[in-house]
Amino acid sequence: MTEPAKQGPPIRVHAERCAGCLICELRCSLRFEKAFNPGRARIRVRRLVGAESEYSVELDEGCDRCGICARHCPYGALVQVKEGGGA
Ligand code: SF4
Ligand code: SF4
Repeated sequence: MTEPAKQGPPIRVHAERCAGCLICELRCSLRFEKAFNPGRARIRVRRLVGAESEYSVELDEGCDRCGICARHCPYGALVQVKEGGGA
């Protein structure tokens, strides 16, 4: 689980739910680059081999917890923790 310390509420990562669709990378890069460019996203999804989860999902230090990736993840692998709530 990665919780970068900056603006919005923390984003909880449930990598075991990730299907590798890359929508999070696309949406994040659209926000910053105004184009679909996963290489410029503040979140990184990688396929793993022989691990408990099939993918690793990491938010980097450039992430300000805007929550766009969590709102668009179709599999519930990214959950923005609301005030006083869990996920
Ligand atoms: S919370 Fe916002 S800045 Fe951080 S990875 Fe998700 S879309 Fe990108
Ligand atoms: S949008 Fe969700 S399911 Fe798709 S790659 Fe990102 S974390 Fe995984």
